[in-house]
Amino acid sequence: MRKLIIAVVCCAACATVESGERAAANVLLPPADEVAIGKKMKNEINQKLKLHASADVQNHIEKIGQAMARQVKSPVPLHFHVVDDDKQVNAFAIPGGDIYVFSGMLKLADDDAEIACVLGHEISHVTRRHIAQKLVQQVGLQTLLGLALGDQPGFLAALATQVAGTGVLLKFSRDHEREADEFGLPLCNSAGYDPNGYVRMFKKIKKLGEASAAGSFLQSHPLPTERIEAAQARIKTFDPKGTVTNEKQYAAFRAQL
Ligand SMILES: [Zn+2]
Repeated sequence: MRKLIIAVVCCAACATVESGERAAANVLLPPADEVAIGKKMKNEINQKLKLHASADVQNHIEKIGQAMARQVKSPVPLHFHVVDDDKQVNAFAIPGGDIYVFSGMLKLADDDAEIACVLGHEISHVTRRHIAQKLVQQVGLQTLLGLALGDQPGFLAALATQVAGTGVLLKFSRDHEREADEFGLPLCNSAGYDPNGYVRMFKKIKKLGEASAAGSFLQSHPLPTERIEAAQARIKTFDPKGTVTNEKQYAAFRAQL
């Protein structure tokens, strides 16, 4: 049975997270330090996780990701990677702007728009500096400074092992998840992708969650139903609406996974 780990599925309404935390993160962990930590973490993660061997597969996701990344000013460069692991239905971002999507998530999708919307959510965790905030809160400033200087190789290895095993790097607050939805969906639309891809993807993940052992996880997070409704309400405000889905191209891409 597929494990359902829903880093991208936790939100409802659309209140913006209080910006004080973000301002603090900018001071405590400036983007340049986040990039330094991210480079070291990427080395560990790329050893622990199996990146998909197909250049075509990697390029397809990087292309969608860059189309999304062009819609927002990011404090760090954004890059996108496919992990060859069908058991994880998830995507995550690490410090420094590298975003990983598991093949389990890609196999659940039926078109480019659905994946663009997932990437938009993860991009927003980066650009809203949720990762920096969570790192400061969870890891502590002293350890972070050690990471930036390369003094904590064991800690990085442990984090990478955790991601490989669970598909989760950092557990964000509901407010952060809500904000990632709020800012991610407009990126999908402005990049020209059908924003209803968000709704389609949530419905599939919700169905999968109901059929799997993810009940306890769903209990501790806002239900996907709330996020579906919030996304539907938000989509109504978009004018014009994106229309690109690229279903046929996506089917060819998915066949390579
Ligand atoms: Zn998230």
